[in-house]
Amino acid sequence: MAKRWLKSAGIICIPVAVVLGSFGIGHVLMRDTDKHQIQSKYAAVLSAQAIAKKPSSTLDVKSVAPKPIIFSVLQKFQGIVTSQIQPPVKDKVIALTFDDGPAPKYTQQILEILKQQNIKATFFCVGEMVHYFPQLAKQEVAEGHVLGNHTWHHWLQKMNSEVAKNEIESTATAIFEATGVKTSLFRPPYGALNNGVADYAKKNNYAILMWSDDSEDYRRPSVSKLVNNVLREAKPGGMVLMHDGGGNRAQTVAALPKIIDALKKRGYKFVTVPQLLMQQQTAPLTTALDKLKKGA
Ligand SMILES: [Zn+2]
Repeated sequence: MAKRWLKSAGIICIPVAVVLGSFGIGHVLMRDTDKHQIQSKYAAVLSAQAIAKKPSSTLDVKSVAPKPIIFSVLQKFQGIVTSQIQPPVKDKVIALTFDDGPAPKYTQQILEILKQQNIKATFFCVGEMVHYFPQLAKQEVAEGHVLGNHTWHHWLQKMNSEVAKNEIESTATAIFEATGVKTSLFRPPYGALNNGVADYAKKNNYAILMWSDDSEDYRRPSVSKLVNNVLREAKPGGMVLMHDGGGNRAQTVAALPKIIDALKKRGYKFVTVPQLLMQQQTAPLTTALDKLKKGA
């Protein structure tokens, strides 16, 4: 999948270069036409000039293909299931993840808290929600968060490969159309690994990302219980499961600042899932170098 995207990134980059290049040529030609005052023979150039004179905010964005933003993970995590990174973990890091959004109100409130705390998180988006609330998905990306695929319908039922493909690919398309993001992060709804959807994701080199720390916010516990749920299971290299969509998330919003404060006090740094996975990459290498140094 990553290779396919890299390939598609290349394909998209070429038209960008062509479009940008033609704008450049347009500017040169525009100066010539002004100089020689032979406007009628250069209708095409003049129309390019009219576009160029428009304030940039009114330019038709579709005329310039955006470069995709790629959220990927190391090859060793592609096509496999990961719930946390294995010790030794280089730094005391933890990843906050939010599923089932983007959703009005709660996603915005969570984004505001994350912004105040200067924390980047990972949002596993439901395709249908991205379709209805593309601006929220866009805001997540604009504010430095990472997006993952959480299927279109959030089904638990058994799916054949065609349905599974639709669930994932339609979501990938919605995410890309809303944000310009291509993501190889996938979280199966309900953590279900045996209903067919995770199989499609595996075959297509998505990283199947579970969690090690379940807030159980979907049960709508009290705020203090929710905070305790997260703190009890918190560990370096862990992934915390929370929700910004799929129902009333008022408790999650209320608990989040307390969770962040408590984890900060314990010395945790907050990272996105791709950053978290990078931590495991360095550990075996360091061990191997240490062994070499020791002559082992
Ligand atoms: Zn979910």
